[in-house]
Amino acid sequence: MKTYDVVIVGGAIAGPVAAKFCAQQNLKTLLVEQFKVPREKPCSGIQFPYFEKIIGDSIPPERLCNNTLTKTEMRFPNGKVLQGKFPMINFMRDTFDEWLCLLAQSYGADFWDGCKYRSFEENDDGILVILEGKNGPETIQTKYLVDGTGMRPVIRQQLRNDGGFQKGSSGAALNYYFTADGDLEPDKLYQFWNIDFNNMMFAWIYNKTLADGKDYWVVGTGYDRDITKHLDAFFDHVKDLYNLKNVLVVKKEGYSSSMIMDGEDRIWLGDRNILMVGDAAGLIDLTRGVGMDAAALSGRLAGKAIGLAEKTGKPVIEIYERLMTQLVKQTRKNQQRGIMSFQDNQELQEFLDKGVMKMGLNMLVQARLNKLRSPEKQVMIP
Ligand SMILES: Cc1cc2nc3c(=O)[nH]c(=O)nc-3n(C[C@H](O)[C@H](O)[C@H](O)COP(=O)(O)OP(=O)(O)OC[C@H]3O[C@@H](n4cnc5c(N)ncnc54)[C@H](O)[C@@H]3O)c2cc1C
Repeated sequence: MKTYDVVIVGGAIAGPVAAKFCAQQNLKTLLVEQFKVPREKPCSGIQFPYFEKIIGDSIPPERLCNNTLTKTEMRFPNGKVLQGKFPMINFMRDTFDEWLCLLAQSYGADFWDGCKYRSFEENDDGILVILEGKNGPETIQTKYLVDGTGMRPVIRQQLRNDGGFQKGSSGAALNYYFTADGDLEPDKLYQFWNIDFNNMMFAWIYNKTLADGKDYWVVGTGYDRDITKHLDAFFDHVKDLYNLKNVLVVKKEGYSSSMIMDGEDRIWLGDRNILMVGDAAGLIDLTRGVGMDAAALSGRLAGKAIGLAEKTGKPVIEIYERLMTQLVKQTRKNQQRGIMSFQDNQELQEFLDKGVMKMGLNMLVQARLNKLRSPEKQVMIP
């Protein structure tokens, strides 16, 4: 039987970042991902410059989309339009996540793709992990187990048959990739704040590079019901607004979660030597509209917590909870401000009237301060 200090499940954002920082501290680390990489993942793939600082390595240009996003256009229920400039990192999750897994490997972690986590049991030596690899079942003995399996977290749900999740879907997202002629600008992120189009955050349009190396528009939204109906209505609105002609949809992708987004139990960091990172810890933030930065930071801090626990002999979960205090506080605060609590566009507009200028200003200030802060003290924006 093979033994590792740390087994990390989920080769996306949180998992590989945790694996990199564990391996960097000379912990014998195994990262497993159920699919062969590169694998597709429905996600807008947009982040901010401090994301790279948290990861601690520069993202190679060939892992990014052709178009850098530098501008935003926010449209509100009352028809007002707010234009802004802000540098963003733009990538596809298949190529990006593959790079992160290889990065963890370059720091010394073992990486097995096409390897599914099945179950664990605790024994006198620590934790016994059962995996299903290319050659059948594999049993691994480890001291620490990290769950980076996203919004349907497998280890979390085995460890704690908890609140935090519901049966079936709690909400879905849908994207259409298309080509068209018209007035859309490829370096702009378009956000439509309107409950008719999206009742979880904003509906979006942006430009992405697919595996064929060509650029496509993406129109997408999230809704807790009737997702196709809402996206089709939004797409029709977009076609009119930006004079889109010769529209050809080339790909559709969808995603659903069972996480109760406004549930009190959503954020949970684990128990004993089993740590939750990224979306598995409930760190996706619909108020900010992103989750990869929090996933990367939690992965980095989980790695640090394990290293410190090894050195000091203190319980790893206590160290991890302490390191995560700021991120958890910010995510909980935003959770309480989630737009699903708004009944209609009027309520949403009142919220935006009060909040948008403050949010924009805060974003600029925090982005500057983040340049001065250490990677572990980054404050998430917007
Ligand atoms: C439509 C959409 C758009 C988004 N846009 C953005 C955006 O623009 N910017 C942003 O920052 N965030 C965005 N997010 C949120 C972002 O996708 C998540 O916050 C982020 O992916 C979380 O990363 P993670 O590593 O925690 O988990 P995930 O990315 O969910 O990855 C989990 C991994 O675990 C693997 N796995 C699952 N079960 C097993 C198993 N049994 N064995 C082995 N492996 C397993 C999966 O295959 C997967 O690779 C978006 C989300 C959605 C749904």
